[in-house]
Amino acid sequence: MFLVLLLGAAATSGCDSRTEHVLAGRTMGTTYTVKLVGRPWSATESLKKKIDRRLEELNRIFSPYRADSEISRFNRFAVAGEAFSVSADFRRVFEVSLQVYGWSRGAFDPTVGPLVDLWGFGRGPARRAPPAEEEIAAARAAIGLSRIALRGEQGLMKEDPGVTLDFSAIAKGYGVDEVARLLREAGWRDFLVEIGGEVYASGRRADGSLWRIGIARPESRARPEEVHRVVALRDAALATSGDYRQFFLFEGRRHSHIIDPTTGRPVANGVVSATVLAPDCTTADALATAVMVLGAEEGLALLERLERIEGLLVVETDTGGFLDRPTSGFPQAEGVPLIDSKRPPP
Ligand code: AMP
Ligand code: MG
Repeated sequence: MFLVLLLGAAATSGCDSRTEHVLAGRTMGTTYTVKLVGRPWSATESLKKKIDRRLEELNRIFSPYRADSEISRFNRFAVAGEAFSVSADFRRVFEVSLQVYGWSRGAFDPTVGPLVDLWGFGRGPARRAPPAEEEIAAARAAIGLSRIALRGEQGLMKEDPGVTLDFSAIAKGYGVDEVARLLREAGWRDFLVEIGGEVYASGRRADGSLWRIGIARPESRARPEEVHRVVALRDAALATSGDYRQFFLFEGRRHSHIIDPTTGRPVANGVVSATVLAPDCTTADALATAVMVLGAEEGLALLERLERIEGLLVVETDTGGFLDRPTSGFPQAEGVPLIDSKRPPP
C-alpha cells in the first residue's frame, strides 16, 4: 500500500524482441501485480491461474477473515500444552516471525491482534477515541509471541490458551516470496511481484534497465501515486509500513494501526514511514513493521546490525516537515541496492 510501482513502458530491445507481460488480480484483501519479461507468448492465462491458485492456498491459511482458515482454527484452539499441527507455510511464517520478534525484542509481535481489534483497526467497530486503560490492560494480558512454542514436527503449542496469531504484518511479504518462487520454478528470471505494495524485483526490465519502485509520500492527503523517493531494485525485496493511511485523530494526535506491544498503544515516535530492503520480502515486511514500533534510533540501529538489510525511515519534524533517515548502505538517490545478488533465492 505504501510502495508505488513505476511501470512506465520499457522500450523493448529490437533483436530478441523481449516484452513485458502484466498479470494482475486480487488477493489478501488487496491487489497484486506481476510483471514478466520474455518473448511474446500467449500462455499468460495458465500462469495467472497457477499464481491465483497459490495465493488462494495462502488465503486459506492466513486470512483472519475466514472462519475456516488455518489461522482462525489456530486462534480458536484454546488448549494449552497440546500441539496444534500446522502446514509448512504456517510454520515458515511463524519461524520468520519468531526471528524478527527476537531481533526487535518484541516490537514485531504477531500476537498483538486483540490490541489491534481494541483500537478499532481489526475486527469490530472503528474508534474516534482511545479505549479505557482497563480495556488496554485486559487485551495486553494475552499478548506475547513467547507464549507460543514450536514443537518440532508436532506443530505449535500455546502456553496460554488465550493467545492468538495475526500475520497481517508479514503475510503479504510471504505471498510475494511464494509467487516469486513459483515464477523462478517456471523458468522466469526477469520479473517483478507486488502484493499490496510489498515488492520483489528479479533481474531486469525488457530494455535492460532496473526495476524502479517509488516509496509513497507519507502524508494522508497525498494521492496514492505520489512518490517521495525512488529506489532501483535488483534481486531484492522492498516493503514499507506507515502510520498515515490507517489512523484516527484524537486531541490532535494520530493514532495508527501499528501498535507498540509494550505499551498496548499505537506508536507515537515520529516515524511516519519505514521502508526495508532485504533479500526476501517476508523478512522485509516484518522488519518494516518492527522498525515503525522501535522508532528512528533503535530502528536504524537494528537495520544497521543486520547483514544485507537496509532501510529508510521518514521522520516527521517539529515543524511538520519530513526528514529522511537512511541506513548507511541504503541506495542514495536512485541506485542499485547493496544486496548481493549472487545469494540463492529465499
Ligand atoms: P504492516 O502494514 O505490514 O506494517 O502491518 C500492519 C498490521 O499489522 C496492522 O494493521 C495490524 O494488523 C498488525 N500489527 C500492528 N502492530 C503490530 C506489531 N507491533 N507487530 C505485528 N503486527 C502488528
Ligand atoms: Mg509489515
